[in-house]
Amino acid sequence: MDKTNDMNPLAPYAANPSQSLGRQFDEPASAPRNAFQRDRDRIIHSTAFRRLEYKTQVFVNHEGDLFRTRLTHSLEVAQLARGIARTLNLHEDLTEAIALAHDLGHTPFGHAGQDALNACMKNHGGFEHNLQSLRVVEKLEQRYAEFDGLNLTFETREGILKHCSITNAKQLGDVGQRFLKKTSPSLEAQLTNFADEIAYNNHDVDDGLRSGLINIEQLSTVELFASNQTLVIQQYPNLEQKRLVPETIRRMINTLVLDLCTQSAKNIAKHQPQNIAEIRQLPPLVGFSKEIAAQNLKLKQFLRKNLYHHYQVNRMSAKATRIVQELFNCFDQNVGLLPDEFQTYAKTDKARAVADYIAGMTDRFAIREHRRLFAVEEGL
Ligand code: MG
Repeated sequence: MDKTNDMNPLAPYAANPSQSLGRQFDEPASAPRNAFQRDRDRIIHSTAFRRLEYKTQVFVNHEGDLFRTRLTHSLEVAQLARGIARTLNLHEDLTEAIALAHDLGHTPFGHAGQDALNACMKNHGGFEHNLQSLRVVEKLEQRYAEFDGLNLTFETREGILKHCSITNAKQLGDVGQRFLKKTSPSLEAQLTNFADEIAYNNHDVDDGLRSGLINIEQLSTVELFASNQTLVIQQYPNLEQKRLVPETIRRMINTLVLDLCTQSAKNIAKHQPQNIAEIRQLPPLVGFSKEIAAQNLKLKQFLRKNLYHHYQVNRMSAKATRIVQELFNCFDQNVGLLPDEFQTYAKTDKARAVADYIAGMTDRFAIREHRRLFAVEEGL
């Protein structure tokens, strides 16, 4: 019989929906769902969530159907986060809500798009995708009669805001406080952040190999990959690459997840927190062991050098940068080109309205919009 961790009781220091710090606008409860399940449901029904399907991480959406999109990435993060939360007796629904919302603020074209938009917004408060995710759930989604945004609980919003500058923190109200007071977020928020990292490092290895931009020989210099690959080969000496790669990656993910759970449980045991208020006062307790943190860092460095800065990725990034810059300049110089609702908004804050409009675009919409604005032969 499978006796693995079903139905674990919630730890006393876990986030508890019945003791949530609440929503920005009071609402009656929605039984039988708890407050965090309701957050998750609202995120799944949002427009920004659907757009994740056509936004990319590293590869542009039209490059191939096999690569991750921000949607499948978010689902992988949610899957890992729930598993880790369950092992540590933390609240799974909260980690799922945070995971599904964490990338809602991403621009089209991954980091190239974000960097380009940030540069365009240099004199207008900048652009940061993590802050934008919060902005999406607090303001930009407009589907409820009584409020803008999704009116999520404090705990979910706290988890979405992973980092922010002191200047921004001062303007963010309740969720900005921890950056000013240097306190920690819930363990659920902490672990979802790690789940994000585990997910993208591993799926980028997978997508990178599939695209042919990196190869197994190169990866054999990365300890985390090499050691797990050796285990697979010992067990299955004649395995073809198609199976060798996923067998290696699942072991890498397992190594990272197990280490994270073990080390975090040790950290928690050492500090003996009694409730979530104490968690917020303690240093972050979720983390890898020193050994695995070092191996994980090597993997990240490998990916940065060999995949994210591969010349073919650079070419796509350069194109993405150009598209975002040109869209921004075009709208900034002539707000009459914006759709009506953004024109109204532009009357109060032109640069931010343009940035919100561009950030909301999917890769393919941005490409099409660019063509509509710049290609003479293109229709409206
Ligand atoms: Mg992510």
